[in-house]
Amino acid sequence: MFKGRAFQSMLKGWGRRCCQCGDRSLFAGYLKISEKCAHCGEAYGHIRADDAPPYFTIMIVGHLVVPMILWSEQLWSPALWIQMATWIPITMLLMLWFLPRIKGATLGLMWSMKMRGDEQH
Ligand SMILES: [Zn+2]
Repeated sequence: MFKGRAFQSMLKGWGRRCCQCGDRSLFAGYLKISEKCAHCGEAYGHIRADDAPPYFTIMIVGHLVVPMILWSEQLWSPALWIQMATWIPITMLLMLWFLPRIKGATLGLMWSMKMRGDEQH
C-alpha cells in the first residue's frame, strides 16, 4: 500500500509541499489548503480530508502521551497539579505540531489515489 507514488505524495504532504512539484505551497495558512499550487497550478481546493487528520492526530498523540503519563506516574508519582501542568501543554504542543503535517500527508494520500472527499458526484 505505501510504496511509490502514494508514499512520495504523503511525504511531500507531511512537509507541506505540493504533491506534484514539491513547492512549499500546499497550505495557504496553518491548516488551510491552497486552492492550487502557486508553482505548478495543481488544484487542491476540491480535496476534503474532513476529520481524518484530527482522528489520526489524536490517535498518534494519545499513543505518545498516555504511556509517558503512566511511566512518570510509575517512576515519581508526581502531584496531580504537576501532572496537569506538564502533560496538558505537552499534549497541546504535540497536537499543534502533528495536525498540519498529518493533514498534509492525508491530503497527499488522497491526491495520489485521486480521491476528492467531496459529495459532488
Ligand atoms: Zn506544485
